[in-house]
Amino acid sequence: MAARLNLVVLGKQGAGKGTQCKRLAETYAIPHVSTGDILRAAVKAGSPLGREVASVMDSGALVSDELVIQLVDERFKEPDAKNGALLDGFPRTLAQAEALEALLGEDGIKLCINLDVPIELVTRRLSARRVCQECGAIYSDSDVEAISGTCANCGGDVIQRNDDKPDAIRKRLESYERDTEPLLAFYEKRGLLVTVDGAESPDDVTAAIKAVVAQRGLA
Ligand code: AMP
Repeated sequence: MAARLNLVVLGKQGAGKGTQCKRLAETYAIPHVSTGDILRAAVKAGSPLGREVASVMDSGALVSDELVIQLVDERFKEPDAKNGALLDGFPRTLAQAEALEALLGEDGIKLCINLDVPIELVTRRLSARRVCQECGAIYSDSDVEAISGTCANCGGDVIQRNDDKPDAIRKRLESYERDTEPLLAFYEKRGLLVTVDGAESPDDVTAAIKAVVAQRGLA
């Protein structure tokens, strides 16, 4: 059996983590684990967890470390994660990064990919982002689906996420700088950090990431 391939993808909100993780998950046959997607699904389902986190998420603040660490711990126990996972939006704090190390033990993180995108560009991308409430497809405000409000994939409603509104965007980017940027040094120290220019086209970014993974003999 191939070695477990656990990859962390870091980058500001709007850097393209979700887009890249979806592509890489297919390439490496490992699941895309997005804590944001798991939490949004709980909110949509109206579960106790969803009711607990909805207002925190809408404001652009982080939910508690304990809660997300538990979610990831449970997700890793599912059979599709036995060969690894692509982690998107987790870890987001040093406490989460340390908990992740403890969780994975020796068979830990193989690489941390930092998608580097200037703040002006991510702010523009986030303000223009529209998503399908049903299937999660991502559109831009100039796409016909965003204008008509109907998803081309599933017919679901295409909306602007509450946390893609200006105040929440500002809060999320502040949180990235304060809480998440220290993780770059954390993974650098372990020789695991690779920075990729996330301002390039999605195809070029995917190619750059695959080249690094191959160069390191990881897949
Ligand atoms: P995202 O889609 O990754 O931007 O996540 C959306 C929201 O979910 C964030 O603004 C947080 O409120 C919450 N969230 C997602 N992942 C985490 C995490 N690792 N730690 C704390 N809060 C998180």
